[in-house]
Amino acid sequence: MAQRVTVNEAAGPKRTARVRVAVRLRPYMDKQDEKGEGPCVRGLGPQILEIVNWRNATETLRYQFDMFHGDQTTQQEVFLCSVKPVIPHILNGQNASVFAYGPTGAGKTHTMLGSQEQPGVIPRAVREVFQLVRSQMKDQDEWEFSVGMSYLEIYNEKVLDLLSPNSQDLPIREDKDKNIIIPGLTHTPLSSFSDFHTHFVPASLNRTTASTKLNQRSSRSHAILLIKVVKCQRVPPHRQQTGKLYLVDLAGSEDNRRTGNQGIRLKESGAINLSLFTLSKVVDCLNTGAGGRVPYRDSKLTRLLQDSLGGSAHSVMITNIAPEYKYYFDTFTALNFAAKSKQIINKPFVRETVMPPTNAAGKRSREEQDAGGSGE
Ligand code: ADP
Ligand code: MG
Repeated sequence: MAQRVTVNEAAGPKRTARVRVAVRLRPYMDKQDEKGEGPCVRGLGPQILEIVNWRNATETLRYQFDMFHGDQTTQQEVFLCSVKPVIPHILNGQNASVFAYGPTGAGKTHTMLGSQEQPGVIPRAVREVFQLVRSQMKDQDEWEFSVGMSYLEIYNEKVLDLLSPNSQDLPIREDKDKNIIIPGLTHTPLSSFSDFHTHFVPASLNRTTASTKLNQRSSRSHAILLIKVVKCQRVPPHRQQTGKLYLVDLAGSEDNRRTGNQGIRLKESGAINLSLFTLSKVVDCLNTGAGGRVPYRDSKLTRLLQDSLGGSAHSVMITNIAPEYKYYFDTFTALNFAAKSKQIINKPFVRETVMPPTNAAGKRSREEQDAGGSGE
């Protein structure tokens, strides 16, 4: 079995700039599967999943990532494995970014925001920041910490301040130390998690959403939460370090030509695709170490994240996917973005549950037992 997965698709050369790629499969939902076809994707272990090959239904495509979160994974587990490790860096003047990528309906907002009962990455990360700050203030009393937030949206290649709802498109600039700054963006100081909650909840309602055929409340913008930690030395030489953590719920990665968007929406689709397309090129560039210019400047999203994606930053992309066939092509595209190569395996996993036995049943069922043994 071991030799079957020989390529680590997401790995690339060892560089600190690499974006760690996790994939999270959401649970299968009957309502999403009018035809009752069952799931077309399944997990095979902590890094591997397989999907039916649309070109040849007797084959599956097997992918490997840094981390695979199966459909039973809890919010807590996603946070602990994929996000918590990057947070201490922002208390040491380094930058980090966490993205949720994937088609509308696959679980991006659930992953990032979650619900009151099942809080996602955002509330857990902010809590963790305050916990770390509190414990470091105890241990290192020569340093003073301050925490603050900004919350913005990129919609139609415009940068909008979600903490100041009537604001216009904001510029993105670079200071002399190559830090990316947004003049005019609201920065709200925070003294506790409940302080964060007070400012964040009403602002998240300001997000621009419009319905599409695919999903009633499809999110058509990139929502970007920035948590900034400034650490100042109380004594000379009064050193100061700033660390930034970006928590990003990206717009749906679905192919908008298939969702029946027209007119103004089509313009939006193009803009969304420009940012997502550029993000995929940037991540690709960073992870394959292809050399050459990383195309940060080609879209607002990547320009904004330039100092927090690649370089010395710590980045994690959580690709959310859905198991139902109606998402098949969007899942396939998202996986191909997240992983740069794949393996074809001659093992139909759909047929083992759906199709009656055929002439070759004896041989196949042995193989299927193998495949099943390494399954969820
Ligand atoms: P997206 O933001 O990618 O469009 P959502 O996060 O809104 O997707 O998820 C779509 C639906 O699926 C929501 O009703 C959400 O609660 C549910 N969902 C998503 N992921 C999970 C999960 N891991 N466990 C349970 N329900 C989930
Ligand atoms: Mg969403």
